[in-house]
Amino acid sequence: MTARIIDGKVIAADLRARVAGEVARVKRENSLTPGLAVVLVGNDPASEVYVRSKHTQTQAAGMASFEHKLSADVSQADLLALIAGLNGDPAVHGILVQLPLPKHLHTETIINAIDPAKDVDGLHPNNAGRLAGGFAALSPCTPLGCIILTRSVHPSLEGMNAIVIGRSNLVGRPLVQLLLNENATVTIAHSRSRDLPKLCAQADLVYAAVGKPEMVRGSWLKPGATVIDVGINRIPTAEGKTKLIGDVAFQEALDVAGAITPVPGGVGQMTVACLLVNTLRAACAIHKLPAPGV
Ligand code: NDP
Repeated sequence: MTARIIDGKVIAADLRARVAGEVARVKRENSLTPGLAVVLVGNDPASEVYVRSKHTQTQAAGMASFEHKLSADVSQADLLALIAGLNGDPAVHGILVQLPLPKHLHTETIINAIDPAKDVDGLHPNNAGRLAGGFAALSPCTPLGCIILTRSVHPSLEGMNAIVIGRSNLVGRPLVQLLLNENATVTIAHSRSRDLPKLCAQADLVYAAVGKPEMVRGSWLKPGATVIDVGINRIPTAEGKTKLIGDVAFQEALDVAGAITPVPGGVGQMTVACLLVNTLRAACAIHKLPAPGV
């Protein structure tokens, strides 16, 4: 069997185009330009790349993009003051503080300071709690992307056995909640789980969000399973360069899985596209407009 490759590039491009269409509509019909503010503290090269891509894609979708670059030694008080300003700014509908933050800043305090209505990363406890309770919420972007990718293969996830490997607040936990909302039966695995291969063997849907290169082996998978690889691991090559690989042994999995996301070109593509979706949804909700059609 050779698994179908789930093309995150194509699916993300389609989603961005649909967001752009809805942005054009709310601009035309409601004179509303959704705006996203991204706050970057310090100059971590990977974070700079992410922030640049968010800026470009936000503008390409027709939204306003506000970038705030702060020095690595900014005080917590100054960062909180900036967030308070963005909370009160009517042109800003989404606020994202790029993580990780330098050690002297208390991440939880910073996240908690964001107005939950503008929390497009879905990390504020109000949104996490609402999602866990099954209420409407702004959900974290990477798990949202995972669901969209899965639904490109299975229009309904109802009754399917899913395993989520990883229980971080950013990926694993919200993904579990979104899968429950889709009526899947979900197993949550983590570093203390016993016999991961056996747990995976029962799963129709496998989500690997661990951060360990190629940890999930092809032999663990149920034949025909759909595999969504969230992992992004940068490893050195023989030529002295680096390359990205996922948490799943891709070549092995190709022979067993029914469908699989590549790394790169899978989940990573969806995260920023879903950030645009969340910003549009937040703008519509703040202005008490009907939810957009994406
Ligand atoms: P975290 O480090 O926060 O969480 C990792 C999780 O994996 C933890 O729950 C941990 O368990 C679990 N884990 C660690 N070792 C094992 C093991 N041997 N067996 C089973 N579970 C294990 O990572 P994130 O959730 O933030 O990210 C996960 C991966 O996804 C990373 O590679 C990251 O780069 C990538 N990522 C990709 C994104 C994208 O856009 N594609 C976005 C965000 C992340 P425990 O809780 O017990 O410690």
